[in-house]
Amino acid sequence: PLVLGIESSCDETGVGVVRGTTLLANTVSSSMDEHVRFGGVIPEIASRAHLDAFVPTLEQALAEAGATLDDVDAIAVTSGPGLAGALMVGVCAAKALAVATGKPLYAINHLVAHVGVGLLDDRATGQQQALPENLGALLVSGGHTEILRINSITSDVELLGSTIDDAAGEAYDKVARILGLAYPGGPAIDRVARTGNPKAIRFPRGLSQPKYMGTAEEPGKHRYDWSFSGLKTAVARCVEQFEARGEEIPVADIAAAFQEAVVDVISSKAVLACREHGIKDVLLGGGVAANSRLRELTGQRCASAGIRLHVPPLDLCTDNGAMVAALGAQLVMAGTEPSGIGFAPDSSMPVTSVSLHA
Ligand code: ATP
Ligand code: MG
Ligand code: FE
Repeated sequence: PLVLGIESSCDETGVGVVRGTTLLANTVSSSMDEHVRFGGVIPEIASRAHLDAFVPTLEQALAEAGATLDDVDAIAVTSGPGLAGALMVGVCAAKALAVATGKPLYAINHLVAHVGVGLLDDRATGQQQALPENLGALLVSGGHTEILRINSITSDVELLGSTIDDAAGEAYDKVARILGLAYPGGPAIDRVARTGNPKAIRFPRGLSQPKYMGTAEEPGKHRYDWSFSGLKTAVARCVEQFEARGEEIPVADIAAAFQEAVVDVISSKAVLACREHGIKDVLLGGGVAANSRLRELTGQRCASAGIRLHVPPLDLCTDNGAMVAALGAQLVMAGTEPSGIGFAPDSSMPVTSVSLHA
């Protein structure tokens, strides 16, 4: 099926077109430039930007795909989680298109779409990727850090572990601010960390003590969970100490050590969860999957544990419409009922809910 995917959960207006598992077009317009001076995404500005960007983004995507709205078999739209006002713009646009064209509409989960994008054919070889059984997904983004078991990408997603406070991307953004680096902080820290010594300072690995971990037989309450707020505080204390001594702050070393702490605890707990659940393939998704060190260390640890790590191309890891279209196509191919037009966006849609129904 030819599926149009619409994304507007945060600052990216994305429209993607797929045919089955083949990517035909992926057009993204971001309002990030307008948020930089505030040091964070301003919901009202993001919503207005979606309104401005939607029609040109749609037209460009259709042109790139060489398709018209007539050719489209189904429309998929992110209905949550995300910023309520931002979601509303994409959802209203999608409903309007569905009513005007009579095409079925699927209201889908943004987080599951970050996983679904990994099922698109390999762009370099055009090769179809068979959906492995016992698939795990490590989702690391601006708003979420989760390890999932994908029993069925269209109907059965299980949450094995997640952050109990900040998401990893959020921690990157907050720590970048403490270090005086540009927003968004993820790419800035990733860059400067390359010139630093990750062993210069040792920052805490949250929820890694035995009382939280327990054992394989008797797992602790937070065996597969993460916490990054203590790490952020530790970085702030460290910077204060350098300041109090009147010393120059070793930004690159702190960035590298912070990144090592994040990546170490994410990869070790994810691999542990996979090993203990018989998961043999794991898909890395979300904006922080763009992080070079996360890819490297998770890859090494998966390889040692006999787990295959699947990492989508960089531009498909950050928010985009192709991921929404990709999951939409899976729903169509599985024969899932469309969502109708009676649903409302859900800003805190749980990852266990793949699609919405009125
Ligand atoms: P969610 O998907 O949970 O709703 P989101 O859509 O805001 O959240 P994404 O767009 O998937 O999140 O990812 C954005 C986040 O990724 C930001 O926090 C950003 O700092 C982080 N990020 C981007 N590139 C990198 C990188 N190279 N290293 C670390 N973090 C990165
Ligand atoms: Mg974004
Ligand atoms: Fe996202």
